[in-house]
Amino acid sequence: MKLTFLGANRQVTGSRYCLEANGARIMIDCGLVQERAFQDRNWERCAIDPKSFSALLITHAHIDHIGLVPKFVKDGFHSTIYATHPTVALADVMLRDSAKIQTEDAEYKKRRHRKEGRRGRHPEVPLYVVDDVVKALPLFEGVDYLDPVRIAKGITATWHDAGHILGSAMVEIAVTEDGQTRTVLFSGDIGQPNKPLISDPSTFQHADYVIMESTYGERDHVKEGDVENQLEEIIRETVGRGGKVVIPVFAVERAQELMYYVSRLVHADRIPDIPIFLDSPMASDVTKIFRKHRNWLDDETRELISSKEPPLQFPGLRITRSQEESMTINRLNTPCIIMAPAGMCNAGRIKHHLRLNIGKDQSTIVFVGHQAKGTLGRRILDGEREVRILGRTRRVYAKIKSIDGLSAHADRSGLIDWLSHLETPPRRLFLTHGEEDASLALARTIRDRLGWEATVPEYGAVVDLDDEPVERTVQIAEPKSVAFDASALADNAAVAGADATVAAGPPAPDFEFFDSSIRPGTGFLHEDPWRVFRMQSDTIQGIDVMARALEGTRRSVAVFGSARLPEEDPVYVLAREMCRRLGECGFATITGGGHGIMEAANRGARDAGALSIGLNIDLPHEQALNAFCDVSYTCRYFFVRKMLFAKYARAFVIFAGGYGTMDELFEALTLIQTERLAGFPVILVGSDYWNPLVHWLRATMYSHGCISETDLSRFVVLDSPEELVTALETCISSNGDTPVETGESSPREAAEA
Ligand SMILES: [Zn+2]
Repeated sequence: MKLTFLGANRQVTGSRYCLEANGARIMIDCGLVQERAFQDRNWERCAIDPKSFSALLITHAHIDHIGLVPKFVKDGFHSTIYATHPTVALADVMLRDSAKIQTEDAEYKKRRHRKEGRRGRHPEVPLYVVDDVVKALPLFEGVDYLDPVRIAKGITATWHDAGHILGSAMVEIAVTEDGQTRTVLFSGDIGQPNKPLISDPSTFQHADYVIMESTYGERDHVKEGDVENQLEEIIRETVGRGGKVVIPVFAVERAQELMYYVSRLVHADRIPDIPIFLDSPMASDVTKIFRKHRNWLDDETRELISSKEPPLQFPGLRITRSQEESMTINRLNTPCIIMAPAGMCNAGRIKHHLRLNIGKDQSTIVFVGHQAKGTLGRRILDGEREVRILGRTRRVYAKIKSIDGLSAHADRSGLIDWLSHLETPPRRLFLTHGEEDASLALARTIRDRLGWEATVPEYGAVVDLDDEPVERTVQIAEPKSVAFDASALADNAAVAGADATVAAGPPAPDFEFFDSSIRPGTGFLHEDPWRVFRMQSDTIQGIDVMARALEGTRRSVAVFGSARLPEEDPVYVLAREMCRRLGECGFATITGGGHGIMEAANRGARDAGALSIGLNIDLPHEQALNAFCDVSYTCRYFFVRKMLFAKYARAFVIFAGGYGTMDELFEALTLIQTERLAGFPVILVGSDYWNPLVHWLRATMYSHGCISETDLSRFVVLDSPEELVTALETCISSNGDTPVETGESSPREAAEA
């Protein structure tokens, strides 16, 4: 018995193994390689003649397990492809989609390369087209779980539920040679227990040889089971900023699983009423497959599907099939949730949504699945500041989040647990389907915890299973059909080179800062000839937002305080209560939009149904916007924010505690001393804390002539909500309720006039 590793070795994608026994050759999985660094392998002719195989056994319908099937058939494979019934149905949808992506990518590359006057790494033809898929599909034959299928003489295969996606399986192959039966277990992708929709992964008491995935071989998922809360928080925050929530999803399973979680949030009224798009023509097809194969789902889901709150349908959900429908999402200017494939952002409609949202700091990109090395998704998740999307380098300003616990893969503990059901150690254990570090780390953990040896095979490794462990490497054929230009630089480098040529002339002006939705980030700190324009733009946009929100009145207060105080802190409670009271008296609350006291203040305003405004700053160390702002603006400059506070607030209210509050006090003083602004009270809440400080100010700043008596008289120290309301009403009646000017500051209003 001989096993050849033809993919997913020291990498995650491209699962493909050849098992030879009793004179028969069987391929297990035939996946597409998705990591950029290894994509050449998709173009290579299989090292073992495709015509010589007796069967192809499929574990599940993910593209990294089936994506090379059409090419395998094109290259000569003509035997039966066995897979579970749902996998057969899903493969039809997945492979057609994959062919379409291959075709579109080839056309796009052809155009781009022509424009850039260079040659790509691969031929500008699709790996396969829909026609090739149509030829491959009749070879599929559906099987049931736990129903042994005779594959060849002395070889049977049994599919066990892997709990990974609908119809996913672990394939157990029993080989009888010379009267002796040995089992070879291919784990496929091992699911997480207690997942919605699908059952828990099967376990085994015995296997002679185990080929096991190791995607999460080096770590455990954190905060597992907290998916709903994480999702709720991200959605509320993003909606608070007026942005879009963009979620790259795998069209199969992850999309449905997310729909399940979103449906729970919608049914429980935990997120605002916004449109939720599943932008994928495949989605409704796949959802139909889920419904048709409901017997393959877990008991709970079967019940839900027939209930009044089905998990895959809910108010607000729009499934977009056509390109035109997809475009309407782009034109939408209000918050929404967009789920679109591909899950690793390397293809599909998600690229268009990323193109439009990655430069917007209001929007959030949420990753819900494993991002393989070298994929666009991984680069974004790793925090790269610039990424290339659809042929253009784009800077990343959107918030990047990742939700744990949603993974369809078992984590390290799950993998060890799955393995430990074996009552005796397997004769050989091979770890595949994981990045090198993850696989090697898992091998070490297995040795430590179970005392078993595990091998992490190289691509092309051949193992004689009957012998003692000896490995050699088969020569993988050089791609013949590919006009590969060895002297060409890697795709990325070539692209960078092309850009450098363009950049040799005078730098092109960057007009993006005129667009409030694509404002550049912190790059200006280093070198920015457009700084003055950006300041201007920041000022104008900030004034525009504030003028519109307050609609000409100036009945608002700016609240300052520590961002670190938790919800249960008495000062947090007081701040929330005070702003609720102010809200009831018709005052809007303006804060820095962050957490702690700012959140308490925004929350209090919202409790009263009053306007709640957050002006945060787009710098890495600044807080993300809290979830309680009705209107928000992300300032680029601190001085702009301070100016907006001073211009639009009737008073500054500063709460006790924290490092920043003394700064606020001094900055308030500085602003007052300009005498260009209407004098406003600086209300210091918490007499125990502030009285000694005011005394100190008098003894130092005042006695040294830095501030005047008038300046000092601005400070009002108080403790209770009642005192605060009274102080504000007094100050307003003495100053008159003058509206703030709005007109000339707003470019939009000026344009309309
Ligand atoms: Zn998978």
